[in-house]
Amino acid sequence: MSKRRAGTIFQLLVVWAAATVLSVGCATNPATGKKQISLIGEQQEIAIGAEAQEEVEQAFGYYDSPGLQDYVQEVGETLASTSERPHLPWTFRVVDDPIVNAFAYPGGYIYISRGILAHFNSEAELAGVLGHEIGHVTARHSVNQMSKQQLMNIGLGVGMVLSPEFRQFGDLAQTGLGLLFLKYSRDDERQSDELGLRYSVRTGYDAREMANIYEILDDVSKQTEGGPVPGWLSTHPAPENRGQLIRNQLAEVEIDWSGTTIGRDSYLRRLEGLVYGDNPREGYFDGDTFYHPGLAFKMDFPRGWGTKNFRQAVLGTSPANDAAVELTLAEENDPRAAAQAFVNQQGIQADRIKSGTINGLPAAWALIQVQTQSGLLRGRVAFVRYRDRTFRLLGYTPSDRWNRYSDEVDRSLQSFDTVSDPAILNVQPQRISIVELDREMTMREFDARYPSGIPLEQIALINQVEPDERLRKGQLVKRVTPKKAN
Ligand SMILES: [Zn+2]
Repeated sequence: MSKRRAGTIFQLLVVWAAATVLSVGCATNPATGKKQISLIGEQQEIAIGAEAQEEVEQAFGYYDSPGLQDYVQEVGETLASTSERPHLPWTFRVVDDPIVNAFAYPGGYIYISRGILAHFNSEAELAGVLGHEIGHVTARHSVNQMSKQQLMNIGLGVGMVLSPEFRQFGDLAQTGLGLLFLKYSRDDERQSDELGLRYSVRTGYDAREMANIYEILDDVSKQTEGGPVPGWLSTHPAPENRGQLIRNQLAEVEIDWSGTTIGRDSYLRRLEGLVYGDNPREGYFDGDTFYHPGLAFKMDFPRGWGTKNFRQAVLGTSPANDAAVELTLAEENDPRAAAQAFVNQQGIQADRIKSGTINGLPAAWALIQVQTQSGLLRGRVAFVRYRDRTFRLLGYTPSDRWNRYSDEVDRSLQSFDTVSDPAILNVQPQRISIVELDREMTMREFDARYPSGIPLEQIALINQVEPDERLRKGQLVKRVTPKKAN
């Protein structure tokens, strides 16, 4: 896949980075009690997580709500304090990403998306998923994974952080953050489910809802997999009969659930105003076209490609994951100077730089070749000056496939254009709003009375009810504010 391919550019760097983060030891796994060979000591584990933090923030950004951030940190910290590794520098952050996702880095760095928060209906559910991620850390799943086949990829991430001069061409690697996402095994998943239950129960949550929330997350994320960033389901492959396994585990422990915390209403109140779906102010896709209202431009990506809008880059990858187009900003003010600086980088060869315009905007472009350890990449880079910014548009693929992709890539690069439509320039995000019902009604009736900007099935799903299910008087129900026509 392209992420992997981009990774190969840095293979040397990777080997070096890997060498610096590794040492060999044998230790007892703190959460599972089993002896296991570990290549990475705890201090190094923490260092890796801390380094990755910067990349996560740059790629996604943290969701801008100190109240929500503090809340998630508090819930997470409390759970982690009941774990076998309470002394780790536990850090919990909400990333500004609409897709359903949660991921853990070694050393106790855990991230959940605002998209997953929108699907929870209680603090107990939030705690369940945080507990599961904590389980991945305490059982050292990611460290073990790193000790195995993913070592290269993690090494790449670390290398990226340590070597800023590689960043310019490393954007794909950096933004294709899949490099840093570890895919767990189903056994790991089962174990984390168990550990998550353990921490939830120890903290005093009613863990009985956990089976359901996993089933919902697995369902929801099925619909959103396939982009450049792996979502919940591809990094956390659902064990077979997951829900049943959890229910069985719960049945085994004799717990008096009275007095345990669900925290439904208090959780839902915290969601008031939460941005739902893509935040179009930061750029959004309508089909294959990317629009950025704040910067007033648009660009078409090749039809049918997977796309992802990161803070610092917009990334498209071909369905076969063997070609990429990325849009970033360049530092130079002049397109030609930017192109010159780009092709001057070591390992890059280019034909003559051409200057001209793209849709009336000053631009410069060149065909490029990049020698990597696993072969030659070929592509085109273009720089476009618009207002006070220089945009870098880059498309590439392995050399032998350039003929196949060059037309699509060129069309995409040449589609960069200005936007003046006020409906695009003034677009606002949709937000969750919490309604307290003044009488009993079905979800369908609720949706008619408080219309949402999303289909009934979807609003029912995030409320975890069926469309014709009855809601009781006084119940708190999520709606999503309709899209405003400007
Ligand atoms: Zn997992």
